[in-house]
Amino acid sequence: MAGFLDALDRVATSSLANGWNAAWRGMLNLLVPNPCSLCVWSDAIAHQLCEPCTQLLKEQTKQIFQAQDFAEALPLDLVTGQPLPVFAASFYTPEMAKVLLKFKDHQRIKVAGVLRPIVYRTLQHAIETLGYEYYRLVPIPASGASMRRRGYNPVVTMLPRHLPPALNLDAGLLKTRWHVLTRAAHHGTGVQVRREQSRKKFRVATRRREPAEPVILVDDVLTTGATLAAGTRTLQSQGFDVVAAVVFSAVMPRG
Ligand SMILES: [Zn+2]
Repeated sequence: MAGFLDALDRVATSSLANGWNAAWRGMLNLLVPNPCSLCVWSDAIAHQLCEPCTQLLKEQTKQIFQAQDFAEALPLDLVTGQPLPVFAASFYTPEMAKVLLKFKDHQRIKVAGVLRPIVYRTLQHAIETLGYEYYRLVPIPASGASMRRRGYNPVVTMLPRHLPPALNLDAGLLKTRWHVLTRAAHHGTGVQVRREQSRKKFRVATRRREPAEPVILVDDVLTTGATLAAGTRTLQSQGFDVVAAVVFSAVMPRG
């Protein structure tokens, strides 16, 4: 599934696709001066989306839910055996997939205006459900390739400008480990190597103050939970207490 999503991401951001999009938009601009990012048929009213698409997104994000039972690779609590709680704003529907891909495309970054209030509500819901006084909010860092291509981390960009007061944003705490990933890639893709790779996917930024508040991780899409697991293990190894994660969309397993 992750491979499929990566492929989808590559297709949507390839220069060929961008060329087609540009040509397509050029033609459409004759009919619709300010086309919606999602359907391209109607005029965008705000945040580069049209009224029906805005309504559709509202509909698909009206019920925050816990998605940890859908993701097999999430870390388990050592005491209770329960998977890490993951709060999701939506299922990864074709519309959500499209909105998130559009958002990751530089030209449609204003779509963040629609995503941010949804992320705010989901964070607020997580805070109230978990019941701690303060949290450290830690975004999953972007991969090296996507940072080079985009120059920004979409997960950080979709966070609301003003967070709920219980959250302290620590955007630089988790870092991607570049060299380990490249070296591991040369040694095949056996289970052991992959496990090692995911264990060493991230590192904790140096010279950080003592871990205090419980950590909430935040990411855009939950698939197997392997990324959240890697982030959790890295933070736990440095004494941080990861209590939950918040994602925009959760992929439903088939069958
Ligand atoms: Zn639309």
